[in-house]
Amino acid sequence: MLKKCDLHMHTSHSDGAYSTNELIQKVADAGLSLISITDHDSINGIEEAIECGKDLGVEVIPGVEISTDVNDKEIHLLGYFIDIKSEELLKYLSFFRDERFHRACRIVKKLQKLGFNITIDDVMDQARNSSVGRPHIAFAMVELGIISNYYEAFEKFIGDRGPAYERKIHVSPQSALKLINDSGGLSFIAHPGFMDEVTLLHLIKSGIDGIEVIHPSHKPFQVKFYKGIVNQYCLLESGGSDFHGGKKGDHDNLGNYYISQLQVEAMKKMIVQNPD
Ligand code: AMP
Ligand code: FE
Ligand code: FE
Ligand code: ZN
Repeated sequence: MLKKCDLHMHTSHSDGAYSTNELIQKVADAGLSLISITDHDSINGIEEAIECGKDLGVEVIPGVEISTDVNDKEIHLLGYFIDIKSEELLKYLSFFRDERFHRACRIVKKLQKLGFNITIDDVMDQARNSSVGRPHIAFAMVELGIISNYYEAFEKFIGDRGPAYERKIHVSPQSALKLINDSGGLSFIAHPGFMDEVTLLHLIKSGIDGIEVIHPSHKPFQVKFYKGIVNQYCLLESGGSDFHGGKKGDHDNLGNYYISQLQVEAMKKMIVQNPD
């Protein structure tokens, strides 16, 4: 029987609700036997995930979700099969996580100016040692009673057009793509449904290795469309649940958004063909 493969999920090393070990247990319970952990701008959970996966019969391939932007719009790239010991990659991710912390401080300042009693310590209580992001700020705001639920934080304050929004530093998709390839990995466009077609074609021309075709945000016509793009441009196909845990409707996604083992084997073949 072919393995069910989910190549997109988050742990508490970024904005996921579960620790690496808790997540691997949930993965096994959901009947998945090959996954990738793709934390935002962090690969700190990978080694532990691989070890834990061995005990539970789950193959874990190294992954990461890197934040980039084009014309102020966020573009996420997924990197698979990256060398988690790559010094260049580790240095970049550490720098970017520091920048994430400074940006969280700027968002907190804006919230204080709006009259809210929130500090960076409240946010870091949520994030602990992980790659800090807006979800941690949203959870802190709920905890402090500033808002009644997670989504309200984005709708009213920290969403892309909200009064307390702050951008991350500019990183071009092309430089992230190069970083992934230089670390021995394959680069994929995450959830392309959030992106316009001009940007998509531009990234394909820049040398992206594949596209995330299966994602909970994609409607059936989009899945069909991206499959067509993959075939037309001879790209690799990826997909997964983008599971974070602890969010509305999120839990049902694990085990229901996956790709076939054959698609992962096609990726492995590309790595063998390009050992550098
Ligand atoms: P950050 O990388 O800090 O900008 O946070 C991005 C993360 O925030 C995304 O991966 C989502 O998990 C979450 N997010 C962004 N926008 C929204 C939104 N409008 N509603 C709910 N969650 C959101
Ligand atoms: Fe996220
Ligand atoms: Fe993403
Ligand atoms: Zn994600």
